[in-house]
Amino acid sequence: PLVLGLETSCDETAVAVVDGAGHVRAHHVLSQVQAHADYGGVVPEVAARQHIQHLDGLIRKTLDDAKIGFDALDAIAATSGPGLIGGLIVGVMTAKAMAAATGLPFIAVNHLEGHALSARLTEEIAFPYLLVLMSGGHCQILAVEGVGRYRRYGSTIDDAAGEAFDKTAKLLGLGYPGGPAVEREAGRGNPDRFKLPRPLMGTPGCDFSFSGLKTAVRQTAEALVAEKGAMDTADRADLCAGFQAAVTDCLADRVGHAVARFQEDYPDFRAKPAPLVVAGGVAANTAIRRRLTDVATSAHMVFHAPPLEYCTDNGAMIAWAGVEILKTDPARDDMAVGARPRWPLDDRAPARIGSGK
Ligand code: ATP
Ligand code: MG
Ligand code: FE
Repeated sequence: PLVLGLETSCDETAVAVVDGAGHVRAHHVLSQVQAHADYGGVVPEVAARQHIQHLDGLIRKTLDDAKIGFDALDAIAATSGPGLIGGLIVGVMTAKAMAAATGLPFIAVNHLEGHALSARLTEEIAFPYLLVLMSGGHCQILAVEGVGRYRRYGSTIDDAAGEAFDKTAKLLGLGYPGGPAVEREAGRGNPDRFKLPRPLMGTPGCDFSFSGLKTAVRQTAEALVAEKGAMDTADRADLCAGFQAAVTDCLADRVGHAVARFQEDYPDFRAKPAPLVVAGGVAANTAIRRRLTDVATSAHMVFHAPPLEYCTDNGAMIAWAGVEILKTDPARDDMAVGARPRWPLDDRAPARIGSGK
């Protein structure tokens, strides 16, 4: 199937056309970073307006680049949740209007499912696999049994990993989004200069916690400023390096526990290597990718990560999720499904309009 996918859940307006073989026929991501820069974070109302302003043009451009019209498509997919309600409504209503006008089915895609299946867009990875989903708003470990079939092993009990990167960057004056900036600084810093905590590390289970680490970074920065008036370049780099090392240690520890649980739940993998898949914006981090590769290798698992451009928000992963959904459920049509700001990945029922969810 050939699917048009729209992504408007946060601060990227993104559109793509993807086919059944996983070929991305065209894709565009329009970042709103400039529009939000003055505020140090995403302003929901500004985001919704930006989506309204740019989505139509981006759809036109994407179809033109793919050299197709609506008649070539099999479905129109859009992120229907979770995310900022204003942006979600823009994407869902635009997709439904196009579906109504063309007679094509509309597919409501869970943004997290888009991330969860993104590695299958470029690589053949069979179900089940162990997934580490690390993004701006979520940090979870799940067993992915199939399209729409998830078993959650653990989640963050406070901040998401990407959120911790963003808050650290903001505190150190590195701008938004923080992940790439913190990674850059960390690359020239000494990770051992500051002793930062590793919340939950060494305890049983697969949950995460990053808010204590964030507080420790803030207190360390404040102590430096109190001591010498201001932080210099080396201080910032060392603090970023220490922070990134702490996040990496925590992730490796929790994933280690999840690996054991996964191998218990799916005993087939005692005889063959199981896939360990990462997804979400934080999966773009080289140090984290490298460390989780080591975790996979020592557990006799095979590590998979999407290309960087499909780790952070994009339309291709939404179109691809639409393809995967259509392959498992060819009659799927979600015209009765509305935008849903909260939508856990392991909750199978899409929200009906007026269901109050
Ligand atoms: P969610 O998917 O949970 O709704 P989101 O869509 O905003 O949230 P993504 O676009 O998947 O999240 O990822 C963005 C997050 O990834 C931001 O928090 C950003 O700082 C982080 N990030 C991006 N690149 C890197 C990197 N190289 N290192 C660490 N973090 C990164
Ligand atoms: Mg974003
Ligand atoms: Fe995302």
